[in-house]
Amino acid sequence: MKLYGALEAGGTKMVLAVLDSCGNEISRTILPTLTPQETLPAMIAFFREHPLCGLGIGCFGPLDLNPASPAFGTILQTPKLAWRGVPILKAFREALDIPAALDTDVNAAALAEAKLGAAKGLSGCLYLTVGTGIGGGLIVNGGPVHGLTHPEFGHLLLAPEADDPAPEGFCPSHAHCAEGLASGPAIEKRWGISARELPPGHPAWDLEARYLAQVCADAMLALSPEKIILGGGVMHREGLLPLIRKHTLRLLNGYISAPAVENGLADYIVSPGLGDRSGILGAWLLGLSAAG
Ligand code: ZN
Repeated sequence: MKLYGALEAGGTKMVLAVLDSCGNEISRTILPTLTPQETLPAMIAFFREHPLCGLGIGCFGPLDLNPASPAFGTILQTPKLAWRGVPILKAFREALDIPAALDTDVNAAALAEAKLGAAKGLSGCLYLTVGTGIGGGLIVNGGPVHGLTHPEFGHLLLAPEADDPAPEGFCPSHAHCAEGLASGPAIEKRWGISARELPPGHPAWDLEARYLAQVCADAMLALSPEKIILGGGVMHREGLLPLIRKHTLRLLNGYISAPAVENGLADYIVSPGLGDRSGILGAWLLGLSAAG
């Protein structure tokens, strides 16, 4: 039985799993994201317990994913300062001596949703996560999109809404970007109460839906993804998804003609098909392809 390692590397926790070639999970552990000096050896020790054929890593970014770059496989300007400049791909390749592949956490999740989840049977999708940050992964023709760097949907610049009491948002790098306006922490800073505690009828939710609708409408206009999948903690709020569909339709204003739009986007802007497992299954798929 061939085994593959999967790592979902997040800013607060690392999810590590070992899966067989059918995707059955053999072993799993979760480690807190401390410093690289502490956390890398602990992760390597876990993977060394198993005879792995390959390893896939879905990691918080930004990342250098250009194979021609000297810094290929390195974590770039992350606000997690201790991890800035860490050559995460090389660290695992050298320690484990197996084929390994790296992509953004959201590209990995998007890959899993495209192959196995809500976009199964399509050639691609856009996966957006809305939680402590906002990120987006894009699959086109079956593979994750890389270009100049990798997609950064969290920092799309949005038009501030007229009734927003904090229209500049809270991103340290940009005025009124998506993450600064609509992430979980942005909701909490704007209203002084966590997204989890905000009651259902609060105006925060319609405002949140309008900002996320701007992201969806812009993505549809620029990239024409075959499906948009919205995951992350903030999206657990009941009723938010239909509000986002409603505002996306309003923003598009009949411009895009497609059955998905005519059907009210109900089958187009959807929840993840794999629940909270898209990240780890995406890392597994990366590991499978690295092993060849
Ligand atoms: Zn930003």
